[in-house]
Amino acid sequence: MADLANVHKPSESEYLNCIRCGLCLAVCPTYREQLSEAPSPRGRAVLARKGLEGELELTPQLIEHMYSCFYCLACHDICPVGIRSGDLAVEMRHVQEQLQPVAWKKALFGSLVARPERLEHATLPLRLYQGLGVRRMVYSLKMRKLMPGRLRDMEAMLPNLPWRPLRQGIPETIEPQGPTRYRIGFFLGCAQTLAFAHQTAASLRVLTRNGCAVVTPKAAVCCGMPAIDYGHRELVEQQARHNIALYEAAGVDAVVTDCATCGSMLREYRKLLAHDPEWAKRAATFADRVRDISEFLVQIGPKPPRGKIKAKVTYHDPCHLRRAQKVWQQPRSLLQGIEGLEFVELPESNWCCGSAGSQLIIHYETSLGILKRKMDNLESTGAEIVASGCPACQMQLNVGVRKRGLPVQVVHPVALLDRAYGGKREG
Ligand code: SF4
Ligand code: SF4
Repeated sequence: MADLANVHKPSESEYLNCIRCGLCLAVCPTYREQLSEAPSPRGRAVLARKGLEGELELTPQLIEHMYSCFYCLACHDICPVGIRSGDLAVEMRHVQEQLQPVAWKKALFGSLVARPERLEHATLPLRLYQGLGVRRMVYSLKMRKLMPGRLRDMEAMLPNLPWRPLRQGIPETIEPQGPTRYRIGFFLGCAQTLAFAHQTAASLRVLTRNGCAVVTPKAAVCCGMPAIDYGHRELVEQQARHNIALYEAAGVDAVVTDCATCGSMLREYRKLLAHDPEWAKRAATFADRVRDISEFLVQIGPKPPRGKIKAKVTYHDPCHLRRAQKVWQQPRSLLQGIEGLEFVELPESNWCCGSAGSQLIIHYETSLGILKRKMDNLESTGAEIVASGCPACQMQLNVGVRKRGLPVQVVHPVALLDRAYGGKREG
């Protein structure tokens, strides 16, 4: 049996109170796909309890049920006694990393993902694949059909990558158009700078158009979500301290991001550092300042756009925005403020799309099953554009759209607002 005495682990209250009511089964995408108890919120709570109490070994098979959680948070919202199986699953991954650290994960998250400049170098082959026209050739010669299904889906995840990551190309401070109304810190997510640079450039234009001086500290590091997802809590604590100190020094009114995942992680800094007497208050103050870009714009009252977008548009709620940050009305409100745009609600808009960061790679079949449900719903709307403020959701939706051959564009809602302001079409 594993020695858990000196390990940071979930408290009993996080799993002991489960009354086995089964309400969570109806909302859990992994249970709905597999119809098996172990990959369900209730099952994960039972397995965590048995593993921590010593009734079961913390075997790779048991921990696999923690890794198969898509962290969609739907069970958090519905559980009548406050069991948060998503958080529990993530904490159990941390338990395993403390007991049996995996060297490659430590190197990946500590030396690569946490260092923006290294990540930029590592993704150069992908940019070459696209920038040198290889991708265009693969599509025009219909060579994608020759790829194995899984590789084809990975390829379909890629948006039109910028030749140069956005982080390298923007000044640290961008002055507003007209008088300064706010001085904000912008948190540039890794996926946004590497894969969705055009959309984030649109976000920055929208912010400056609305009177914001935008400070984007170049020394900011990853928010920490990938590392925490893989059980590297201590590393994320270091990243959190580094980022908090940077934005404190920038003296900003708010910390704004256009990435739902980054936003949810930045708000989590409060909880993450609550145990640290030196950082608890600073982390709480920082977390209070974090805003999703749609939330911030609605809060300050965006300038009405003069342009029109004549298109039928729907909206997919990223779990990390709707459930983790309770932001769901604001993106809809921005879209509905655009003249000509016909907004249509997506059935089950808050059901996970099956991305959860890397789940299309790690749990391919389950991820595709969940995506199918999303795509059925999307197709039923007849929308030409689906908006969503999360890069991982956008990549997953791109896979679904390309697999079905649907003429649907996947885009950030604020990029649509930028288009209506007359900005360059992104991507
Ligand atoms: S909803 Fe909560 S209490 Fe009910 S079975 Fe699920 S985890 Fe247990
Ligand atoms: S977070 Fe989502 S996937 Fe994970 S147990 Fe809860 S409902 Fe299921």
